[in-house]
Amino acid sequence: MNLAIPYHLENFIGGNFIGPLSGEFLDNYNPATGSIVGQTPNSHKKDIDLAVKAAQQAFPEWSNTSNEKRFLVLNKIAALIEDHLEELAIAESNDNGKPLWLSKEVDIPRAAENFRFFATAIMHFASESHAMQDKAINYTLRQPIGIVGCISPWNLPLYLFTWKIAPALAAGNCVIAKPSEVTPITAFLLGKICKEAGLPDGVLNIVHGNGSDCGEAIVKHPEIKAISFTGSTLAGERIASIAAPMFKKLSLELGGKNPNIIFADCDWEKMLKETIRSSFTNQGQICLCGSRILVERKIYDAFKAAFIEKTKALVQGDPLLPSTQQGAVVSKLHFDKVMRCIALAKEEGGNVLCGGEAVSVEGRCKGGYYIAPTIIEGLPQQCKTNTEEIFGPVVTLQAFDTEAEALAIANGTSYGLAASIWTQDISRAHRMAGQIQAGIVWINCWLKRDLRTAFGGMKNSGVGREGGWEAMRFFTEPKNICVQF
Ligand code: NAD
Repeated sequence: MNLAIPYHLENFIGGNFIGPLSGEFLDNYNPATGSIVGQTPNSHKKDIDLAVKAAQQAFPEWSNTSNEKRFLVLNKIAALIEDHLEELAIAESNDNGKPLWLSKEVDIPRAAENFRFFATAIMHFASESHAMQDKAINYTLRQPIGIVGCISPWNLPLYLFTWKIAPALAAGNCVIAKPSEVTPITAFLLGKICKEAGLPDGVLNIVHGNGSDCGEAIVKHPEIKAISFTGSTLAGERIASIAAPMFKKLSLELGGKNPNIIFADCDWEKMLKETIRSSFTNQGQICLCGSRILVERKIYDAFKAAFIEKTKALVQGDPLLPSTQQGAVVSKLHFDKVMRCIALAKEEGGNVLCGGEAVSVEGRCKGGYYIAPTIIEGLPQQCKTNTEEIFGPVVTLQAFDTEAEALAIANGTSYGLAASIWTQDISRAHRMAGQIQAGIVWINCWLKRDLRTAFGGMKNSGVGREGGWEAMRFFTEPKNICVQF
């Protein structure tokens, strides 16, 4: 299979690679260098209409395809992703600015894992039955919904794209999927992989374009019955306002402002190593990164000194070099936003302990978008910097004296995605985990997750849950049937 990347990417509709009907394209940048590397279809409603027609044609057969056949084709997609790991990782690193090793070790393997996980899920998925003693039996048929929309962001491009598509396909739906216009390349390559794997034409349609036009055309289309969205809280709010009155099924995985709570009795070395990871992995552009570090006052100064030292030692540079720990942020637009947030933090009284400035990288990366990992202290909890998502390599430090104070700060934002707790006191850890308003709480670790668990946020971090049976339930329509004896 040829995974060469053309200058003009194309949509994947009905098994064909075709340009946008309008002939319009958007520039695609490599954020590591700042140069234009290609163009992405700027698709509109008419392209979505075409994709929906293709999906409608494919649905009767795909929804009646045996679970075993669906399992085989999804497994084949997983195997092909693994076979082409190197090419996909390079494509993603160039598209997104993340270190190549991160794509190779995390993003691309996880994309394969997503397909494999949901391929096997469909072989084991079962529906419920409820017996009314000797009177009747109720059972639930879980049927594919029909055509569903999957919209994903730029931070983990193929990982999050496949996290939605795989369960939707496994459950027998046909999919209209839109990757972020900022990172379209691996999604384009996924179309080639699906074709090679023998996924029937029209079952998965990948349409490129921006959110307000192409994305909204998916959300508004009356034949698309469910929307699975991952992205910002602002876009999630807009999508909900369109989809809710149309009574569409909705799953929204949104932003976060995650607390990382560190007690004096923690395992110091492990906490420090993982806090560096949870703060700056992928330049802080993971929705689950801990962006507010809350430290028990008696170890605050020691933590601050050690954390600054380790942060300053992070190697920033060309994402393609194996030694690089910090790559570029995803775009000029995002670079400007993060720099504005740092300026605002200073206006709000923040003291920048390290970073806070753009970094210039020599050689081919001279024009890229690099920001030094930044630590800020001295800000009140209620300021914008401590309550609004930045989504970049910027963390704040706050000291606390008591468990109750730590909890109040942790829960003091409108978000509720994730939290970490570092303590050796197991009673305290469990007590706090139960009270923190977050969809996932890590105790003495970060970013570990069994794919069978429900994933998602509370409060403004989202509605609904992904992962495991939650995803299989989301992508099926339950119908209850009661048979009287
Ligand atoms: P974004 O909301 O700008 O865009 C996400 C996707 O939605 C893109 O494909 C975009 O084109 C599309 N989109 C934007 N507006 C739309 C609209 N009105 N209708 C339909 N589609 C629309 O987000 P982003 O900047 O790409 O990603 C960063 C955000 O994603 C951060 O807030 C981050 O926390 C969040 N995120 C959340 C999770 C999670 O699981 N909760 C995971 C990753 C990222």
